[in-house]
Amino acid sequence: MTEPTSEEARGGALGTRLNWLRAAVLGANDGIVSTAGLVVGVAGATGDRSALLTAGLAGLLAGSLSMAAGEYVSVSTQRDAEKAALAVERRELSEQPEAELAELVGLLTDRGLSREVAREAAVQLTRRDALRAHASVELGIDPDALTNPWHAAWASFLAFTVGALLPLLAMVLPPAGARLGVTVGCVLVALVLTGWSSARLGQAPPRRAVLRNVMGGALAMAVTYGAGTLLGVAGV
Ligand SMILES: [Zn+2]
Repeated sequence: MTEPTSEEARGGALGTRLNWLRAAVLGANDGIVSTAGLVVGVAGATGDRSALLTAGLAGLLAGSLSMAAGEYVSVSTQRDAEKAALAVERRELSEQPEAELAELVGLLTDRGLSREVAREAAVQLTRRDALRAHASVELGIDPDALTNPWHAAWASFLAFTVGALLPLLAMVLPPAGARLGVTVGCVLVALVLTGWSSARLGQAPPRRAVLRNVMGGALAMAVTYGAGTLLGVAGV
């Protein structure tokens, strides 16, 4: 009976870390784009710094809290579903161990093992930890690594907040004449970085991802600035 090698364990942990990192980059990207759209839109309507600060802060909080709540709900639901599936599996294993063994053999032959090898593998896996074997082969779940919804919620909250701070500060810190240029410049540079990193972390070619990301952000700012300008001119 051998434990998984440390290299395999590291590979899995590295994969998980990269997924988290990619989610963090995408969350920051959301924070940048939505807050930039918001403050640039308000800047189209008014030069009042406190209005810009209020709008930016409200956008930051609303966005990060809604991301966190959404993430909490979605991860909790997934976790409930996984726990329920594990409970069913546990019951089946205790009530009909023979049928479960046959099922595992079938799943392993589906994956390309010969009948004899699958049988031997199923017997050994069942002896070692039947529930874990069924969780992994049948459900694709690691029962010890169910995602914690609070961790996921905090991570989204932080990622969005970090992203949102950039356009917010770029808008309220510089003198009035420079704030729009500084904000648009900082945002476009940041979108190059987030587009590039998320593509690299997802092993996709970066050039097109960067282009799409920058175009998306530029479009958001152009649209809200246009709307803000119209409202400002109309004196609404
Ligand atoms: Zn099963």
